[in-house]
Amino acid sequence: MTILDTENQFTSGLYTKRPIAIVRGQGARLWDSEGREYIDCVGGQGAANIGHANPQVAAAIAAQAATLISCPEMFYNDRRAELEQRLCALSGFPRVYLCNSGTESVEAAIKFARLSTGRKGILACMRGFHGRTFGALSATWEKKYREPFEPLVPGFSHVPYNNLEALRAAVSEDTAAVLLEVVQGEGGVNPGAPEFLLGAQQVCRERGALLILDEVQTGFGRTGTMFAYQGFGLEPDLVCLAKSIAGGLPMGATLIGPRVGELPAQVHGSTFGGNPLACAAALAAIDYIEANHLPGRAAELGAWFLGALRRIESPLIREVRGAGLMVGVEIKQKVTPYLQALMAEGVLALPAGLTVLRFLPPLVIEQADLAVVVEKVRKVLA
Ligand SMILES: *Cc1c(COP(=O)(O)O)cnc(C)c1O
Repeated sequence: MTILDTENQFTSGLYTKRPIAIVRGQGARLWDSEGREYIDCVGGQGAANIGHANPQVAAAIAAQAATLISCPEMFYNDRRAELEQRLCALSGFPRVYLCNSGTESVEAAIKFARLSTGRKGILACMRGFHGRTFGALSATWEKKYREPFEPLVPGFSHVPYNNLEALRAAVSEDTAAVLLEVVQGEGGVNPGAPEFLLGAQQVCRERGALLILDEVQTGFGRTGTMFAYQGFGLEPDLVCLAKSIAGGLPMGATLIGPRVGELPAQVHGSTFGGNPLACAAALAAIDYIEANHLPGRAAELGAWFLGALRRIESPLIREVRGAGLMVGVEIKQKVTPYLQALMAEGVLALPAGLTVLRFLPPLVIEQADLAVVVEKVRKVLA
């Protein structure tokens, strides 16, 4: 049986798959089982900021795997200690909780907010995406993810993104937290307006609610700063991280600010959270991001890419928008046929909603590769 046949027979069936098997990567290039080469603008859906097959991260993973993989947080660990200190130094936060995925980092933030404030309400945004477990799903907007699994967690409500008046009107004495993406990813690559984000923070401060920023997709250099909140001068109370935190290995983290109270022992936890293998990978990935100035690279290349895409003249394009190397091209039709056409041209990209082409290349991508992507987009949208 071919790889595709085997997966088609045994997979859960939950994913809409493209008919290629990716078997190898290098930097911002991927190869399929037929030997075809692609420029990768899927970037592991945001998990591959440092590129594929990074030698330093591969070496760190191999060395740690041969030393110690399992070490639950009932014990202290050298790699975990180093990573906790590193994440706090990078962000200026005093504490961090380690877990294994984006949705888990959001679950933790929601639980910490309810615990710390004694309030129940969580206010999120329309078109927001926060994950698939019940708490994170309750904050997620998209109907098709939510409806099959109702009833969801009580206490969640949504206001339009970038509408400060609506947000101000919705934050009450029972709001534990406002949960926002700095740039909405799945919801269509919608950058947050500075007035909205800073205004949301101010409303939270005034009403005693916490501000949770979901930086699962925007973190680790994607939008041009290590964390997107730093680019806006925001001081969130909780920050959710995952995707590119550990060079592509599964890991999540929740940064915990000073306005979050003490978290009593035993109220939350995870078997795999803070395991030495993921911590070693994260340390090597963060070293690489810093040594190679990937946030600055994302800012520069992203500005160039956005400009080049904006110069494409096509009656199909409604808007080109983004931040750093998180870029969306909204078109006037459904994107699926255009994503297929790009793939046939050797460019892999993502959808964001029904009508937005989304580009999340590894931040190590060469400008020459981005120029090829622009030409291919021009060709398929002609
Ligand atoms: C991907 C994503 C999540 C969920 O992360 P998982 O690791 O898939 O659980 C949550 N929030 C945002 C903004 C994301 O992009």
